[in-house]
Amino acid sequence: MKIGFVGLGIMGRPMVVNLINGGHELHVYDVVGVPSDLTAMGAVAEPDGKSVAAATDVVIVMVPDTPHVEAALFDAAGIAAGLSAGKLVIDMSSISPIATKEFASRVNALGCDYLDAPVSGGEVGAQQATLTIMVGGPEAAFARAKPLFELMGKNITLVGGNGDGQTCKVANQIIVALTIEAVGEALLFASKAGADPEKVRGALMGGFASSRILELHGKRMIDRNFEPGFRIELHQKDLSLALAGARALGISLPNTATTQELFNACAARGGSKKDHSSLVQALELMADHQIGQPKT
Ligand code: NAD
Repeated sequence: MKIGFVGLGIMGRPMVVNLINGGHELHVYDVVGVPSDLTAMGAVAEPDGKSVAAATDVVIVMVPDTPHVEAALFDAAGIAAGLSAGKLVIDMSSISPIATKEFASRVNALGCDYLDAPVSGGEVGAQQATLTIMVGGPEAAFARAKPLFELMGKNITLVGGNGDGQTCKVANQIIVALTIEAVGEALLFASKAGADPEKVRGALMGGFASSRILELHGKRMIDRNFEPGFRIELHQKDLSLALAGARALGISLPNTATTQELFNACAARGGSKKDHSSLVQALELMADHQIGQPKT
């Protein structure tokens, strides 16, 4: 299949590699240029989104936030300008569920299907083709896209109509943020009490408190490895979507709000480009103790 891919960052780049390895012809574009390893593998670098859409049957978008998706789709030389009836647009970025419904209807008006298909699993999941993919859109479009999703991920679910994939991803990000916060508090508590945080982490990995976040991000907190990964600024974006959605729905998400404030504190101290596991540094500041420091 001829596949277009717009947005070749931390996530998009390894996803393109997996699609090429699956035997597909890739036409790619990114505002900052196309990585040379992708063209060396046979990907065709296009000058803009319009050319990507004109050359392909299915166009995938993987850019940071709602305004970037809007620009990628609807700028003068954007994807929509190169679409013709029967093509399929798949947005795999994590963006607003409300804007997604509007983008879908604008693409539908051109005679094309639209799927929102945000992912979870991070850079490692993108590299290993083990992403969780949460899809919103028509069943027929999902069936058409499924073989492509299977080259990029493992747990692939059609959640509902357009917007429902993004809603599912916001729910995912609430759980991830609050779990990072809980792991941070637990390891900080253990360290301040004088227990070896690595031994505590290892012990807890066998029990009811075990999680991928305790395993991977708990290790990051102990090793002081805050290279992204998933940047704080992207998680702030996701929790903003959660809190704005909660306000529109008339419900309260108290711990999501608190965790967003901790991300905001990290950003205020220059940490917005660090990995989201560095949220623990806001907790450490309040505790006047760093995980792994000797007991004082
Ligand atoms: P990134 O910033 O590394 O990559 C985004 C790329 O999009 C950049 O290369 C940028 O130049 C390009 N871009 C921006 N606007 C563009 C436009 N109008 N046209 C073409 N290219 C454009 O971000 P990422 O980490 O790859 O994340 C992408 C999306 O995936 C985000 O919505 C993020 O929330 C989501 N996500 C990321 C992770 C992760 O661990 N990094 C995990 C799950 C989901």
